[in-house]
Amino acid sequence: MTAVDPILSVDHVSKKFDVSAPWLNRVLERKPKLYVEAVNDVSFTVPRGSCFSIVGESGCGKSTVARLITGLYATSAGDIGFGEGRGGKPVRVQMIFQDPHSSLNPRWRVGDIIAEPIREMHLRDTKEEVLERVDELLGTVGLAPDDAKKYPHEFSGGQRQRISIARALASEPELLVCDEPTSALDVSVQAQILNLMRRLQQELGLTYLFISHDLSVVRHMSDMIAVMYLGKIVEMAPAEVLFRQPKHPYSRLLLATIPDIHEPNRDRPLQTGEPPSPLAPPPGCTFHPRCGLANERCSNQMPNLTTSGRATVRCHAVEENRIDRPENGAAV
Ligand code: SF4
Repeated sequence: MTAVDPILSVDHVSKKFDVSAPWLNRVLERKPKLYVEAVNDVSFTVPRGSCFSIVGESGCGKSTVARLITGLYATSAGDIGFGEGRGGKPVRVQMIFQDPHSSLNPRWRVGDIIAEPIREMHLRDTKEEVLERVDELLGTVGLAPDDAKKYPHEFSGGQRQRISIARALASEPELLVCDEPTSALDVSVQAQILNLMRRLQQELGLTYLFISHDLSVVRHMSDMIAVMYLGKIVEMAPAEVLFRQPKHPYSRLLLATIPDIHEPNRDRPLQTGEPPSPLAPPPGCTFHPRCGLANERCSNQMPNLTTSGRATVRCHAVEENRIDRPENGAAV
């Protein structure tokens, strides 16, 4: 899948973590070194001005991908490349975290929190210009100029996330990596923050890489969605295609578990257990212990990503054309 003018290209990226016991314990107990492959051969490109979302349960590797892109972790293999930034400069990347409470310094006034990147990066010349820019940013995220004098604890969770967004915007980024930015918030506040982020994307021409465990959160934000399971992308498709016709059994499971406000009492399929430990992933397709369509091939052979319509899917059943057969639960 090639993208026109990608701002970000992730090319066969993997990340292994050493989770071995301390050296002495290993020697005494004769245990080998132990690694977790948190991200395993992940590739995608993000076109400028779009929203690319990565979705999956906790431990699937989506937050590790976010941290690799922002440089918080180094890759074990593969390449991460950025397009040209504004004025021919490198692309500015900023991250918005899940918990605004821990990402904002509690001892600083909000004005100083937002002003710090402006001062550090010399984005304004005088003290007055910095203050003016802080006022402007507070207005952009729906806060008042007076809020600059307050401390983070004087705000609600939603307001704190607005402060985090203003701080992220202060460095004038082109790419915002948002790691579960609304998952600590109530549903109604979640919707307000998502609306704000969509408005900012249009007004400022931002590109988003959006990480979430919840498909319903990314539904109205995303142009493209990648579903991750145990470190690998299992399906990648334009958002409307994934919601209309998910192909991978895991994408179907994630979609089927979204509450439907129009049909709160509809029958939902039973959850099929928890993901296995990334320390001991199952052989073959790592989803096979939870999959109703698994056969012998699935438990022995890891499927490759193959193109199916406008989606890329990693599943033998899709490849073998047996996913939509009536005997496999498809509507007739
Ligand atoms: Fe299920 Fe097999 Fe597809 Fe894996 S490869 S998702 S086990 S059908």
